[in-house]
Formats: sequence, C-alpha cells, structure tokens
Amino acid sequence: MPTRPPRALFFRDAEQLLTLAGGPLPRRGRALGELGIVAGGGVLIQGGKIVAAGRTRDLAAPARRLKALPVDCRGRVVMPGFVDCHTHLIFAGSRVEDFQARIEGKTYEQIAAAGGGIARSARLLARASKPELKAQALAFLKQFAAHGTTTLEVKSGYGLDIRNEIKILEVVRELVASSPLELVPTLLAAHALPERFRARRAAYLNRVIRRLIPAAARAKLAEFVDCFCDRGAFTLEECRRVLEAGKRYGLAPRIHAEQLTHSGSCRLAARLGASSADHLDKMSGAEIRLLARSNVVAVLVPASNFNLSTRRYAPARRLIEAGAAVALATDFNPGTSPTLNMQFILALACTQMRMTPAEAIAAATVNAAYSLGRAERLGSLEPGKQADLAVMDVDDYRKIPYYFAWNHCVMTVKRGKIIYARE
Ligand SMILES: [Zn+2]
Repeated sequence: MPTRPPRALFFRDAEQLLTLAGGPLPRRGRALGELGIVAGGGVLIQGGKIVAAGRTRDLAAPARRLKALPVDCRGRVVMPGFVDCHTHLIFAGSRVEDFQARIEGKTYEQIAAAGGGIARSARLLARASKPELKAQALAFLKQFAAHGTTTLEVKSGYGLDIRNEIKILEVVRELVASSPLELVPTLLAAHALPERFRARRAAYLNRVIRRLIPAAARAKLAEFVDCFCDRGAFTLEECRRVLEAGKRYGLAPRIHAEQLTHSGSCRLAARLGASSADHLDKMSGAEIRLLARSNVVAVLVPASNFNLSTRRYAPARRLIEAGAAVALATDFNPGTSPTLNMQFILALACTQMRMTPAEAIAAATVNAAYSLGRAERLGSLEPGKQADLAVMDVDDYRKIPYYFAWNHCVMTVKRGKIIYARE
C-alpha cells in the first residue's frame, strides 16, 4: 500500500528549541555541552526531513508557503528524538524472579547457578515463537516512542545458538517493517557460553565464528557485531577472534567492556577501531586517555549500575574531560536494566555520574547517533536531516532530568510523522 507523504508540520514557539546543530562529530569536551538553544524556536518539516530550524518568526513565511500544520509548543522544549544506542530489545518473558532473588541478597553468580540469569532468558527465548517475540517487542517499542526515543540499536544475544540468534535478528527485520521506529541490528555473537558447551568452549566459538557470523552477515541481518568480555562470559582473546571475524564480514565491532572486571577489552576496542565500548565501569586512567585519542564512543549505561545497586559508575567526568566521545543508552534488557526511558537515563547521568543536563542530552542524541554511524542523518535538528524529534512538557531542558522518573514527552515525530501524541 503506497503511503502518502506526511503533511508539512510547523513546530512553533517552543520555549527552548535544542538544535544540537554544528560542531565536529562526535562531540567531545566542552562541545558536548553545547545544545544550540533557540529561545522561541521553531522547526519546519516536510517530506520526512527538516526544512528549517531557528526562530519561529523567521519560519512563519516559509511555513505558510508549505501550508504546514502548526503545532503549538509554547512552554515546551523541542529536541531531537533520543537515539538509544544499546538495547537488548528482543527477549521472552521477564527476569522478575531474578529481581526478587537479588533483593533477597543472592549474587549474580548464585542466581546464574540456580538457573537464572542469561540462561533463563535463553530458555524462554528458545520456546518463544517469532510472532510472540514480535508482539512483546512491539509493545515495548510503543513505550520507547512514548518516551521520546526515535532510533534504537537492538542486540541479539539470548539465542545462544545459530537457529535462535537468527530467529531474533529475523524478528528485528520484521519489526523494521512494522514499527515506525528505526532499529539498528547488532549480532551479539558471544553473550554467554551455553551450559552444554561448558567443556567445549573452543567448539562453541568456532560455531559462532564459522557459521553464525557468516550466516547473519550474508542475510544482511546485522550491521554490528558485539561480544561480552568479562568474568563468566568470554575472555579477551575469545572476543578478539569474534570481533575480527565480524569485521571480516563487514560488521563493525561494539563491545561490552570493563563492566564487572577489568579485562583489557577497552584496549581491544581501540585497537579494532570499534564503534563503541559499552559499560566501562572498571576502566583505568590509561584507557580513558586511549579512548580520548580514538573515535570509539564510550557508551555509558548507568541504569544497569542503578538496578544492580553497584556504587561504582563509569567515570563519565574523567572521560569527558579527557576528550573522549561519550554517549548514553538504556541497556534495556530483562536482567539488569528493564527501563526504556532515556529521560531517566539523563537523570542518572546527572546525579550519579555528574554529567551536566546539557552533556547528557548531547550524549543521548548526536553522539549516540555517531556511534551507530548515523550522525549525518540523525541526532540534531538541522536542515536536510531526518525529522526525528520529541516535544517535552517542560520550559527548561534541565527539568527533564530534574523531575526525574517522569515522562515529560508529549509528542514524538519520526521521519516527519507524528508517531506518538499524549493529547
Ligand atoms: Zn548490554
């Protein structure tokens, strides 16, 4: 069914328009805190793209020419839609049992030994059909949109075998066709060692490298390859092999790095020219300087620290001051971070990692888009870019994290179409 191009829209009289325009990419150091704020701002969009962004009064004449539908944004903030660059969207059921066990004092290792953890998600996923996985993911995507997210990266990883990993990525492909949101697929090729391979690590990795990665790449089911480099997951050398194999098939590396233990995975990310190194709670000072000299984006996911009650967060301040490119993400997943609200991530970034509200917003939009190779098209409100934006019911952008754990989003626009409106 051919879809008619959406009508031109004129978002006008915003108390603050956050354009995030200009500047080199990714944003580093002081530039991370520059939001390109226009008081009384407006955005004119047509055909899925931004025609103009600036002062409302300068846009009134072109808006009339385009017969644009006005959207009154008085008392509100208009900003780019959030780009959530680290999620595990596709899973079956939940891990609410693990949540309860953790509250009762069980450790990650004890929960895993009792059949919980990633193994529980893998069992549930193996039993779930594609339509079931799709239905749950679609319900989540509605919520992502309602909270102002317009693009998200989606990792596989709960399959733990070739058939189920491919099943997850095929569900993502179906979601691309049936959800208005933009999904960026990542093959999380090495997430956890399945129990039946306990004594045959090498055999499992060979399957991942020789069969899973080529199969996913040939079917164009993923853009990125990822692995979990940590105690209880995979070693540095194993991750190197997986990520290099992914690279040979055209998948750009991302890596779950330095989360529970210090593994050297941050150095591996720099050496491979990875698109991102994610978590980074246990990174060292030398590694901060190393990332600062690279284009590897440090993707920080403070909701997993919050939810696991770990006191030590990633060193966001030191990363920013050293000049590293920092992005923020939810790490939406059933085990450690079941939130999809990027506004809450901003609050955690501010209160737990001492990022300023402005730095947090740039990290959650333009730098996150950069880490997904989409900064030319997404992450800021500039003429020619895709019309992806969120309208927040606050008159000062700092109130988004200040009034934390609320949902301030009243409208979300993707490719020029209103995909969520509260009223
Ligand atoms: Zn993750």
